[in-house]
Amino acid sequence: MKLILANPRGFCAGVNMAIEALETALTRFGAPLYVYHEIVHNRPIVVRFRAKGVIFVDSIAEVPPGSTVMYSAHGVAPEIRRQSAERNLRAIDATCPLVTKVHTAAIRYAKEGYTIVYIGHEGHDEVIGTMGEAPDSIVLVEDVEDVAALTFPPDTKLAFLTQTTLSVDETRGIIAALRQKYPQIAGPSQDDICYATQNRQEAVRDLVDEADVVIVLGSRNSSNSNRLAEIARQNGKAAYLIDTVAELNLNWFRPTDTILITAGASAPEDHVQEVINHLRHTFAAEVETRTVREENVRFPLPRELRVLPRI
Ligand code: SF4
Repeated sequence: MKLILANPRGFCAGVNMAIEALETALTRFGAPLYVYHEIVHNRPIVVRFRAKGVIFVDSIAEVPPGSTVMYSAHGVAPEIRRQSAERNLRAIDATCPLVTKVHTAAIRYAKEGYTIVYIGHEGHDEVIGTMGEAPDSIVLVEDVEDVAALTFPPDTKLAFLTQTTLSVDETRGIIAALRQKYPQIAGPSQDDICYATQNRQEAVRDLVDEADVVIVLGSRNSSNSNRLAEIARQNGKAAYLIDTVAELNLNWFRPTDTILITAGASAPEDHVQEVINHLRHTFAAEVETRTVREENVRFPLPRELRVLPRI
């Protein structure tokens, strides 16, 4: 058996920042510490932080007045900030700067009188947060069928934005459909898909032909992890999305297979290594790391954690 280890894979700069922010906040303010939504979409990380006294909530009403609350890497709508202020919470914003960039664009377009067509997946935390910036000026489209169903008059002042963790290929098709229907539409030169999502997808696309089976470390609710498995399947390969080695099924493999291993932007590297060790041990697998692109992106801690509190 041969294991091809895709690089880049796993943690992105936004996830690194959010995890470091939560660890720093725990050290500084102690438990219990509240996080609005999962800090990142990864089950093992959420479980680890729960054990340290972090309480993940889906509603600000669950946070006792005066407590500390952190906003996850996916960002929040202004309404959530308002509710936090109303409850006198100490809010720490661990939103990824690349998500904030899309929020800022949504606010700007709405102020300038544009109607925004936002390409994203309904119900995702990031989508809810971004749409909440201009709820009266944004419509969501998920695919080209949704674009075909849009009924704006041809000369409507329109702009488009996208979720940061979409499929590069599918999004390109949706944007092309939008531009064909509304040639005047404003928007980013390409899309808002972040560097980490693009690079992980590029690595899978480049390496998938050499593989018989693809393993993606990541959680079911992780958008960018799901897209990696989708790319493998679109290329005719069996692909499995797993959180940990415990979900690995040895019946997926033949002893002479080549396995491509990658990980979504919120999947910890120790879980990747556990899968590798298991396959090495079981099938005497050889490992080859293949670097498709170098990454050197880092984001600073949230503003609220950059200065020490006065004693
Ligand atoms: S996947 Fe992209 S947008 Fe999301 S946290 Fe990572 S860098 Fe930020």
